[in-house]
Amino acid sequence: MSETNPKLRAELEGIPTYKPGKPAAAGGPAAYKLSSNENPYPPLPGVLESVTAAAESFNRYPDMACTGLMNELSDRFGVPLSHLATGTGSVGVAQQLIQATAGPGDEVVYAWRSFEAYPIITQISGATSVRVPLTPGDVHDLDAMAAAITDRTRLVFVCNPNNPTGTVVRREELERFLDRVPADCLVVLDEAYREFIRDPEVPDGVELYRERPNVCVLRTFSKAYGLAGLRVGFAIAHEPVAAALRKTAVPFGVSQLAQEAAIASLRAEDELLGRVGSLVCERTRVSDALRAQGWTVPESQANFVWLRLGERTVDFAAACEQAGVVVRPFAGEGVRVTIGEAEANDIFLKVTEAFHKEL
Ligand SMILES: *Cc1c(COP(=O)(O)O)cnc(C)c1O
Repeated sequence: MSETNPKLRAELEGIPTYKPGKPAAAGGPAAYKLSSNENPYPPLPGVLESVTAAAESFNRYPDMACTGLMNELSDRFGVPLSHLATGTGSVGVAQQLIQATAGPGDEVVYAWRSFEAYPIITQISGATSVRVPLTPGDVHDLDAMAAAITDRTRLVFVCNPNNPTGTVVRREELERFLDRVPADCLVVLDEAYREFIRDPEVPDGVELYRERPNVCVLRTFSKAYGLAGLRVGFAIAHEPVAAALRKTAVPFGVSQLAQEAAIASLRAEDELLGRVGSLVCERTRVSDALRAQGWTVPESQANFVWLRLGERTVDFAAACEQAGVVVRPFAGEGVRVTIGEAEANDIFLKVTEAFHKEL
């Protein structure tokens, strides 16, 4: 066999691997998965039926233009079809946005710690990551982010609420930031957890984008809508950006099953709002209980909470697993714990109680 390997792009060296949330191992002690911010509920009413019907024709390629879903989204958000683009989850769309805007020599600015896909998709494009530390309260430091923008910056991510801290940026500071960003630099408002926000001061990105051609809003069906396994997300942006997304899309990336499931989910709005409401109640219950135990937790507007555990992070995650819940540790920093079923949340709170007593 030849000693020579195919030449691969140098940028691929050292790309961090995406660490998926650990599943709850069959037969193991952990019965609940609180590690990927998934929705604990089964599919919304009508979704399974739509998917099953679509499954009868998966010998055919899906509708590449996602016509039905695009029409539904256009009505729902009051945006023209030309301002919409769908993709294989909003991570897929985020990757397309970077491919469309940044290559070697260009910079992509984002907060850190934030969503772990950002460094990966930036490096794949050959662009350079510029990470701006969160404030001591674990919130985006928008002034520092604005100051980090140079004439090489092509894209800035604002993750609102932020994964993994659950913290938000509010209207006034976000608008001030957007006013400072040069018009030729794209700002991506990643709103994967939008449905869980209850703070009225957090602006809806879809309102901000209307007057700002350099703002793109990312949404997903993976979290509140409970379709993580089907891979469908979308962007709302002005025409040149949305058109670039259609150019960079993998042909037929969004399956017909995903398209039909997304449409049926949008039509089950009442049920969706009820479920999201219950999860938000659980978020309040869990956050209050943690504070009563003595923990300092940032105010979460998402479907997870963040516990800064530092050096004890890995031990804490192991204790959770032993007790029956899998959480998402970021070694040396903290754990992100999804709000799940009440029983799962109770198990988590038992572990935090025992851990806090040992502090
Ligand atoms: C989960 C998540 C997404 C969405 O992922 P999909 O690819 O749509 O499943 C995007 N951004 C953030 C910050 C997330 O946490």
